[in-house]
Amino acid sequence: MNPNRHDPIGVPLLADAVALTVPLHIAELRAHVARPDLVRRREEVLTAIAARAGVDFGHSGDQLLFRPESAAGRRGASIGGTALARGIAAACLLNAGGVEALGRHWCAGPHEGCPAARPVDGEPMSWDEAGARITALLDAFEALLDGESSPEAA
Ligand SMILES: [Zn+2]
Repeated sequence: MNPNRHDPIGVPLLADAVALTVPLHIAELRAHVARPDLVRRREEVLTAIAARAGVDFGHSGDQLLFRPESAAGRRGASIGGTALARGIAAACLLNAGGVEALGRHWCAGPHEGCPAARPVDGEPMSWDEAGARITALLDAFEALLDGESSPEAA
């Protein structure tokens, strides 16, 4: 399969990719602002991180819209994706009620009225189901990056 590199990747796939990393950024940032030298400046530090993420996303976020065709494109997509996930994570830590982005709700912990909350008596996702979802996502990324190993300068 050689998908058209100019096809937009679409917000759902982008949201899935970001969903994998936002919780990791939340954990990292939560630990970062818990440092004794930063704990009293938590809001200021998180706001600065969110602002920086916004700047980085502003510069590189457009690289997320299409299949990267070069090393520079992949680097830009990486910077843009990281900035997006980090910015959402910082915003989640600044807003107890979470934030809305990419058509989804994101939050750093339980809160009243959380649309992401699941019933306690609901069936947990099986390992098979989780594995199938991750495999499907990885397949989608593989298809997205198909041609990455081909010579870039033709
Ligand atoms: Zn929530």
